[in-house]
Amino acid sequence: MNSNSSVQFNEQGVPVSTTFDDIYFSVESGVDESQYVFLAQNGLPRRWLSLPAHYSFTIAETGFGTGLNFLLTWKQFLEQAPASTRLHFVSFEKFPLSRQQLEQAYQLLEPIAEFSQSFLEHYPATDPGCHRIILSQGRVILDLWIGDLNELLPEWLPQAQNQIDAWFLDGFAPAKNPEMWQPTLFDAMKQTAHSETTFATFTAAGSVRRALQQSGFEVQKVAGFGRKREMLCGHYHSAEVCQKYYDRRDVTIIGGGISAACSALALKQRGVNVRVISAGTADGASGNPQGAVYPLLHAEHTPLSRFYWQAFSTATSFYRNFCADHWFPVGVMQPAFNDDRARRYQRIADKLYAPGTVRYLSQPEAEQKAGVSLAVPALHYPKAGWLRPEAVVKSLLETAQIELIEGEAKALKETERGRWQISLKDGSLLTAERVLIATGHHVNSLLPESVKPLPIQPVRGQVSLVQTTPLLSSLKTVLCFKGYLVPEDDKHHCVGATFNRDREDLEPTPEDDEENLKQLAENARQPWAESLQLTSQRVSVRATSPDHQPVTGTVAENLYVITALGSRGFTSAPILAEVLACQLTGELTPLTQDALRRISVSRFKG
Ligand code: SAM
Repeated sequence: MNSNSSVQFNEQGVPVSTTFDDIYFSVESGVDESQYVFLAQNGLPRRWLSLPAHYSFTIAETGFGTGLNFLLTWKQFLEQAPASTRLHFVSFEKFPLSRQQLEQAYQLLEPIAEFSQSFLEHYPATDPGCHRIILSQGRVILDLWIGDLNELLPEWLPQAQNQIDAWFLDGFAPAKNPEMWQPTLFDAMKQTAHSETTFATFTAAGSVRRALQQSGFEVQKVAGFGRKREMLCGHYHSAEVCQKYYDRRDVTIIGGGISAACSALALKQRGVNVRVISAGTADGASGNPQGAVYPLLHAEHTPLSRFYWQAFSTATSFYRNFCADHWFPVGVMQPAFNDDRARRYQRIADKLYAPGTVRYLSQPEAEQKAGVSLAVPALHYPKAGWLRPEAVVKSLLETAQIELIEGEAKALKETERGRWQISLKDGSLLTAERVLIATGHHVNSLLPESVKPLPIQPVRGQVSLVQTTPLLSSLKTVLCFKGYLVPEDDKHHCVGATFNRDREDLEPTPEDDEENLKQLAENARQPWAESLQLTSQRVSVRATSPDHQPVTGTVAENLYVITALGSRGFTSAPILAEVLACQLTGELTPLTQDALRRISVSRFKG
C-alpha cells in the first residue's frame, strides 16, 4: 500500500481529501476542534480522574487520518490521568498518510508539537493489519489498523466485547463517505459497549442519529464547533449492566530469555504480580552478542509474512521505548547474491509493501547504504536493525521490577484443578496461581503428563565472532546473505549462524566457524569478507514449529506457553508477549482471529 495520493494541502495548510472532497480537521483550529468535539463531549479528561488503578481506558476511532485526535488524547492522558492507569487507542484507517504528509499537517498543530514529533519517530510502515505501537514506556498503546473499516471490524470484534470506553466517530461527512457509517459500525459499537460507554461525532446527520439510537445509544444534539451548528454525542443505555472485567491474578514465568522478559514486562504493566524462575538470564538462544531484527517478507502477502511485519512494528517501537541504548535501527540489507534472488527481491519490493517497509536498491545505492563494497543490488529494510540480546533481556527484566527466583524448574504438577506446583532442581517447591512456560525448546519437559507434547523441534546454531578490520569497520547496516554479518560492536562483528535441525549439543565446533566464514566469503565475494580473524564463538538452540509460526496460549487450566520463536525471537517476542498479556488479563490483542489461531497451541490439537 503506497502513500495517499489523494491528499492535498489547502491555502491554510490543512490536508484535504480529493477523493472525498472533505477536510481532515478544522481550518480555524484543528486542536481546539478535536478537544471540543471528541474529548470534551466524551467527558474527557474528567472521566479519567476517577479511574480505578491499572484501568486501561480504551478508545476506538473510525479514521486515523493525521492522528490529531490520538495525539491530543495521548497528551491529555499523560497530563491528567492517574499514574497507574493506561490508555489504549484503537484506530482504523484505509488510506494512511505518508510520513511526509503527516509532517506537513503537523506544522499547523503547534500545541501538540512535542507529541507529533515523537509520533513521527514511531510511525510504522503502513502495510495492512494492526500495527501496535508502544509509547510512553508502555503506558500508552496505539493499535493502528490499516484496511477498510467494514472488513476490519468483524475481524476485531470477537475479542472486543464490552471493551470500549469511548468512540470517536471521525470518518469524512456521511454524505461524502457513507462507507464509514454503515450498520457494521453501529453493530460493533453496540457489541463493544459497556454501561459507561460514550461516543462523540462532529456530524449531526439524521441517519447517524437514528442508527445510534437503534443500537442502544442515547443521543444528544449539542452545539458544534466553530461554524458547525450541531454535533452528536451520547452514551450507551442498556437494560442489563455490562461491565469491563480484568483478570489480574498472579503469574509465575519459567524461563530467562526474551519471551520471558517481554511477557514479564507486558503483564507487570497491566497490574499483574509476576515472578520469574530462571537458572540464568539470556543464557540460551537469547544470549548471542548481536542479533538482527527485521520482518520476514514473501513475494506475495501470506499470513506468515503478515504476522512478521506486524510483529516488526511492535518490536521497533518496543525497543525504542525500553532499550534505546542497546537497539540500533541502522537498517538491514539482503544483497541479491544471484540472479534468481535479484528477481525475487524485485518482486517483493515492487508495490507489494509500503515504501517504509522495504526498498530495492541498485548496486551503487546498496553499496553506498552498506558502507562496504557490494557487487550486487539488494533489498533494504530501512527501519530494521540489530540489538544486543543479552543486554536487552537483562534491562527488560530490570525495568519490569519482578521477583526473580534463581533456580531451575524441573517439573510441574497440578495439585488441585487449575492450581500448580513447581518443583525446582534444588528440591524446593513453589505453588503458583498461573504459570507461563517460556523455556524455548525445553517446553515439553515441563508439561504435565495430562498435556500432549508440542511438536517443537530444536535447531542448533553457532555464531562466530570476528575482529573488525579497516575495511569492515565502515559497515553501516546489517547484511543478510544466507547467514548474516552485523556492524561493529566493541571492535567485533557477529557472523552467523549455522542451522542444524534436531541437534541440542552446545559444544562449539571449528567446522561451524569455518562454515560461517565460508558462507560469508562466498556470498559477498568482496575483499572485506576474506581472511577474517576469529576470536570466539557461541552455540545456542532455537525452538521451531512445523509451520514456522510461534506457539502461544493455554495448554491446561491456568497453564500457558510461549515458544517456537525460531531465529526471529527478538522480532516476534514483543508482540507475542502483548498478545499473551492481553489474553491473560482480558484486553484487546493486536491480531485478527485468524492470526491468533495460527499462533495458538490449539492448532495442534486433535
Ligand atoms: N481522525 C482524523 C485526524 O485526527 O486527523 C481525521 C479523520 S478524516 C476526517 C477521515 C479518515 O477516514 C480519513 O483518514 C480517511 O482516509 C478514512 N477513511 C475513509 N474511508 C474509510 C474506510 N472505508 N475505512 C477506513 N478508513 C476510511
